[in-house]
This record gives sequence, structure tokens and C-alpha cells, in this order.
Amino acid sequence: MKLILLGPPGAGKGTQCKRIVDKYGMGHLSSGDILRAERKANSELGQKAQSYMDSGALVPDDLIIDMMIAAIKKAPSGYVLDGFPRTVVQGEGLDAALEKAGEKIDAIVNLQVPDEPIMDRMTGRRSCPECGAVYHVVNLKPKADGQCDAGCGALTQRKDDTPEVVSYRLKTYHEQTAAVVGYYQGKGNTILDIDANQDIDKVTASVLGKLDALNG
Ligand code: ADP
Ligand code: AMP
Repeated sequence: MKLILLGPPGAGKGTQCKRIVDKYGMGHLSSGDILRAERKANSELGQKAQSYMDSGALVPDDLIIDMMIAAIKKAPSGYVLDGFPRTVVQGEGLDAALEKAGEKIDAIVNLQVPDEPIMDRMTGRRSCPECGAVYHVVNLKPKADGQCDAGCGALTQRKDDTPEVVSYRLKTYHEQTAAVVGYYQGKGNTILDIDANQDIDKVTASVLGKLDALNG
């Protein structure tokens, strides 16, 4: 299965992708995770992306499109795209590459959340720097305070999850990313709208239910 997960920052894309991948076994291609790995490796791409990410701005389209097309080529049997495409230009770049390869996206999962809960979700997010697992200080607590359930060690807070940067990321979402849903509607893609302003497990049930129905 080839899926795209859309939604504002903090919608729960990473959280739900993990559960989709656990059930269906495709690759999880998160543009944010790939960029953070590039930064950790201090690669040229990581260095170029750094200032954009720290301020909450989008990394330039050409860098992202090349990076994600390369990742997709390494996952021929299926994937769920998380955080990409984030502009209409990225959507067009993705579609052109897929068309060239004779492939298509099966469905777009659109996580719908109003702005109000986003600040609490993102400032309360804690991540494992080793395995990438994502928790929340209230909504999804680890078993031991501040420690990854997988035994990796201490959880950390992302530098771009401060109130100032979260506000800017939400603004960026409304100005540059929200239009991606309309782009895919215009192309006639299958879009699965999900109410993501409810408990994590309820969102998962809704997502998996719709994907099961899609698979027939
Ligand atoms: P995204 O990948 O869309 O930025 P995440 O999956 O990282 O979002 O979720 C952001 C934060 O919100 C995490 O701390 C996560 O535990 C929490 N979260 C995710 N989904 C929900 C939900 N439905 N209700 C409450 N908190 C949630
Ligand atoms: P995320 O992990 O999805 O919250 O992304 C973290 C940051 O990485 C974003 O605020 C952007 O700076 C950058 N980023 C991730 N994905 C993209 C993308 N598709 N286009 C541009 N920038 C991106």
C-alpha cells in the first residue's frame, strides 16, 4: 500500500503512521525524521536544512523533493509518507516522479484538527533520540517518567517544539501546506478524512477501519 498522511504539525501523523506500519508492514518515510538524521550525520543536506527547521520554516522544495524521491525508491513494496508533500510544488514533484515510475498513491489520510489543541500537543511532545518513539507528557506517557519504553534511555524535547516556533509552524502550515489537500481533491485522489481531535486510540480505530475498507 502507498499512502500519504496529511495534517497540521502535531496532528498525530507520526503517532498514527507507527500504528499503520505496525499493522500493514510498509515503510514509514517521515521527511522530518530523515532531515533530523541528516542533521545528526552533519551532512551537506543537514547543514542546509538546519536554519529553516530551527525557525519553523519549510526547507526549500527542491532539496525535499530530491530527498523524498530517493527514499521512495528504496521502498518499492509500499510506504506511508509523513510530512511530505508540504507544498503544492512538492505534490507536483512527487506526482511527476510517480508517473514516470508507473506508480500511484492508493489513498491520502487527512488528519483534521483545529489549531486550539496543537500547542499543548507539541509543547508536551517528548521523543526518543535513539529509536524515534514519540510520547506526550499527559496524553501518551511513557511507563517510567522521561524514559523510553524500549529501554533506549532518556527522552528529549525537540528544539522546534517551543511555543514561539510552534506558532510559526502553524502559520507556515496555513499559508503553505493546507492547500495540499485541495490539490489532491482536484486530482481526484481517494481522500480519507479523519477526525483527529479525539483520543489517540479512537483516531487509530478510525484510520485503520477506513484503510481496511479500502483494502476490501
Ligand atoms: P505530527 O507527526 O503530526 O507532528 P505527532 O504524532 O508527533 O504529530 O504528535 C504530536 C504530539 O501529540 C505527541 O506528543 C503525541 O503523543 C500527541 N498526540 C498525537 N495524537 C494525539 C491525539 N489524538 N490526542 C492527543 N495527543 C495526541
Ligand atoms: P516535522 O518532523 O514533520 O514536524 O518537520 C520538522 C521540520 O522539518 C519542519 O518544521 C520543516 O522545517 C522541515 N520539514 C519537514 N518536512 C518538510 C517538507 N516536506 N518540506 C519542507 N520542510 C520540511
